[in-house]
Amino acid sequence: MDKIAVFPGSFDPFTIGHESVVRRAMPLFEKIIIAIGYNAEKQTFISLENRLRLISDVFKNDPKIEVTQFESLTVDFCHEVNAGYLLRGLRTAADFEYERAIGQVNKAMRPEIESVFLLTAPEYTPVNSTIVRDILRHRGDASKFLPKGIDISKYI
Ligand code: ADP
Repeated sequence: MDKIAVFPGSFDPFTIGHESVVRRAMPLFEKIIIAIGYNAEKQTFISLENRLRLISDVFKNDPKIEVTQFESLTVDFCHEVNAGYLLRGLRTAADFEYERAIGQVNKAMRPEIESVFLLTAPEYTPVNSTIVRDILRHRGDASKFLPKGIDISKYI
């Protein structure tokens, strides 16, 4: 069976930290599906369509990467797309506690799916979507925290 991983998140917006996790995981998997968890009732800063477009632009030269959306439980989505692995990034102790609980519950629901965690590269530890959103809302320059070459004004 192919080694397929799902990297789920809201990616509002997709940051240089997210990109780093995906690129570091590429040698481990045959395919990585970057999947935007979508909740029709939740208001987001960047529309679903534009988040999909931005992430696809970042990985346009990487055939191992697929970008999509899902509305179901994350483990059910993994099952649907035949993914045996759930990829997540770990920045801080707070991330760890949160991910531990979710990872263990996911394991109880679908034992065949393994969660795989990559420690954030130290330089990206402070990068998070909430802060990047605040910078953008106040018209600051967030380019340092976004994937190289991405002009965020094309997606907002
Ligand atoms: P969620 O809403 O599920 O937390 P996010 O879009 O914030 O989704 O993040 C998706 C994944 O990316 C999570 O595993 C998160 O820990 C990881 N992540 C977020 N920011 C970084 C970063 N700067 N470096 C590495 N991983 C990160």
